[in-house]
Amino acid sequence: MPWHGQGAYAVWLSEIILQQTRFEQGLPYYLKFIESFPSVNDLANAPSERVMQLWQGLGYYSRARNLHKAAQTIRDEFGGVFPNTYEAILSLTGIGPYSAAAIASFAFGLPHAVVDGNVYRVLGRIYGIETAIDSTKGKKEFQALADTLLDPKLPGDFNQAIMNFGATHCTPQQPKCETCPFNKECSAYLTERVQTLPYKEKKIKLKQRFLHFILLESDSHIIVQERRGKDIWQGLYTLPMLELSDDRLALDNDWKGFFKTQGWTGFRGELALIGEESQLLSHQKLKMRFYRAAMPDTFVGQYGIAKEQAASYGYPKTIAAFLQKKKGSAS
Ligand code: SF4
Repeated sequence: MPWHGQGAYAVWLSEIILQQTRFEQGLPYYLKFIESFPSVNDLANAPSERVMQLWQGLGYYSRARNLHKAAQTIRDEFGGVFPNTYEAILSLTGIGPYSAAAIASFAFGLPHAVVDGNVYRVLGRIYGIETAIDSTKGKKEFQALADTLLDPKLPGDFNQAIMNFGATHCTPQQPKCETCPFNKECSAYLTERVQTLPYKEKKIKLKQRFLHFILLESDSHIIVQERRGKDIWQGLYTLPMLELSDDRLALDNDWKGFFKTQGWTGFRGELALIGEESQLLSHQKLKMRFYRAAMPDTFVGQYGIAKEQAASYGYPKTIAAFLQKKKGSAS
C-alpha cells in the first residue's frame, strides 16, 4: 500500500478515503490528495472548494468536510503534528473508534484492535457469535474479543492480517472454507451457519426522494448553487433544485413558486424536460429529473456564474455526469 511507512497523515488519509469505498476506487483519490496536499498543513490551508472538488465522485461527502476540519484542528491545536495517542486521534472530527484504532496501530504501533466489517465477519463466524453486530451489545462484545486476541507486540500487523483475511478469504459470499486454516475449529463452518453469520438486526429503510434540477444557462454563464443545509451533498454544488413529495413532473406553478423562493423575477421562458436519472445513496433513493430553459439576459449578470468558474467546483457524481454529457453534446 502506498501509505505504508509514510506516517500518520498518509494512514489517516487512506483510512478516511477507504471507508465505504473499494480499494480500487479509493486509490486514485488517495494519490490525488497526497499529491495536492503533501502535508496535513497543506490540507488545512486549502480552500474548501478545492477539497470538495478533489473528492468529487467518491460519495459520502461528509468525509471530505470532516477531513478538512480535522486537518485544521491538527494545525491549530496540535502544532501541525498528527497526534500520537488513541484518545487525541479519536477527538478529531470524523474519526470514530475504528479509524482511531487503525491509525493508532498502523502509524504508531499502539495496541488497539480494529473492528471493521471484515473483522466482524471473521470473528462472528469463527466464534459462532449470534449477537447482532449493529447492536450496542454486539459492538462491545466484538471489540472486547478483538482486544483479547490482539498481539500487543505487533498490533498493526495483527489488524492488517485479520482485515485482509476477511477481505480475501473469509469473504461475505462464497468464502474459501475448504482451504481455510480455521476450518477445523470455525463454528460457522462446522454448524453450517456461514451464510447467516455475522448477524445484523436492522434493515436500512430507504427514503425515496424526487428531485428536479433546472439547467439555466447562456453561452458563457450557468446557474449553480452551493448546498448549504444539513442534507445530502452539503458543501457541493448542484443545479438549482426543486424537491417534490411525489413522483410527478414539476409543473409551471411548481417552478414559479421555486423561482419566487430564490428571489428570481422576470423569467417568462419555457421549461423542457431533458433527462432522468436515479441514484442510490446509503439511506436514500433519488429520482432525479433535469429540465432546461434559456437563461434570461437579466439573469446572466445577477445570478449566473461564468462557466469556467463553475467548472472548478465539486458536484455530486450524477450532476457532474449530466453536465459533462451536456457539454459533450453542445461541442
Ligand atoms: S472456515 Fe470459512 S467461514 Fe470459517 S473462517 Fe474459514 S473461510 Fe471463514
